Amino acid sequence: MNSIYLDHAASTPVHPEVAQEMLKVMTGQYGNASSVHAFGRLAKRTVSGARDRIAKALSCHPDELVFTAGGTESDNLAIFGVLSATANTGKHIITSAIEHHAVLHACEELEKTGYRVTYLPVDSTGRVRVEDVKSALTEETVLITVMYANNEVGTVQPVREIGELARSRGVLFHVDAVQALGAVPISCHDLPVDLMSFSAHKINGPQGVGALYVRRGVHLGPRLHGGLQEKKRRAGTENIAGIAGFAKAVEIVTAQLEKRRDHDFELRQTFIRLLEQKLGEDSFIINGHPSEFLPHILNISFPETDTETFLMNLDMEGVAAASGSACTSGSIELSHVLQAMKLPQNVLRSAIRFSFGLGNTTEDMEYATEKIATILRRLRNRS
Ligand SMILES: *Cc1c(COP(=O)(O)O)cnc(C)c1O
Repeated sequence: MNSIYLDHAASTPVHPEVAQEMLKVMTGQYGNASSVHAFGRLAKRTVSGARDRIAKALSCHPDELVFTAGGTESDNLAIFGVLSATANTGKHIITSAIEHHAVLHACEELEKTGYRVTYLPVDSTGRVRVEDVKSALTEETVLITVMYANNEVGTVQPVREIGELARSRGVLFHVDAVQALGAVPISCHDLPVDLMSFSAHKINGPQGVGALYVRRGVHLGPRLHGGLQEKKRRAGTENIAGIAGFAKAVEIVTAQLEKRRDHDFELRQTFIRLLEQKLGEDSFIINGHPSEFLPHILNISFPETDTETFLMNLDMEGVAAASGSACTSGSIELSHVLQAMKLPQNVLRSAIRFSFGLGNTTEDMEYATEKIATILRRLRNRS
């Protein structure tokens, strides 16, 4: 049986060149980057070399990057880190209802400690309105955190406009750019953003490593207490192989950005066209924004079905897709993103996220859409 991976928004295969670079580090370097001997100095050079390479690719200073264990830690470090450093200036945070749980659950935690959090609504395409950010701002606001692009529906947010607003009001702005990296050109210094989160495993790098961009002059308290690593902003022995692999992955996606975008866009269009041919245009609904979207994410509802059944059937046919929302012990919760978009119940309950990537081909789209058509026929006959 074929097995086709259409869940690149959840994680991606490691690029062969990334694996190669990691293997070299894992087998050849075992010193601790904090040690003063030659082995330690070699590890330290690997980390600082990786930092320079990522800084160059993302247009920031090397000292503005803090290596972390991934997107979740970067989001948490950004939010708790700046608040611990600005504790007495205000107790209000603005975020959106469609953030990743790494941001939403961090904000919920803050509410327990006396912070007030505004969860901005979105329109039916999943986009935050800058006007809403403006009216939510108060004298008490210390941080705005809004993602670059959503991981369930791919909608790109007006981060530049929000950033300009934040800057004009002297409020810090954090952006979760985990899905955007590799899909849109990212230049840290070109954006009015103070903190930005990245993760390696969403861009064909290894799982368990990422970075937080922290603009010079922004004070960040540590979340982990221990050694002096990362200029005391993130204690713990560096994951040198992961960091080296992350640098390689960032270099590759930056160099191949256009190619990747064209590739994913092409697959997306093919997928939609084939569904139209096989099912008819009225059999499915595309969720998200008609133009402001990441090409690798395609969220589709098949209104007469339900997400869980459909996903299980797809899995049996060798097609890996996702509900986009958290899957707790096998049962799927309704997506907070689609709920925030106020989609009708049947659309909400039948949404599937297909996300494309490097290894996918036109044949994969042919196979997957054929299986979708078969499953739909089967489910229809049953009901
Ligand atoms: C995957 C993802 C995260 C979490 O990153 P991890 O490296 O898996 O912890 C955060 N935000 C967004 C938008 C994501 O897609």
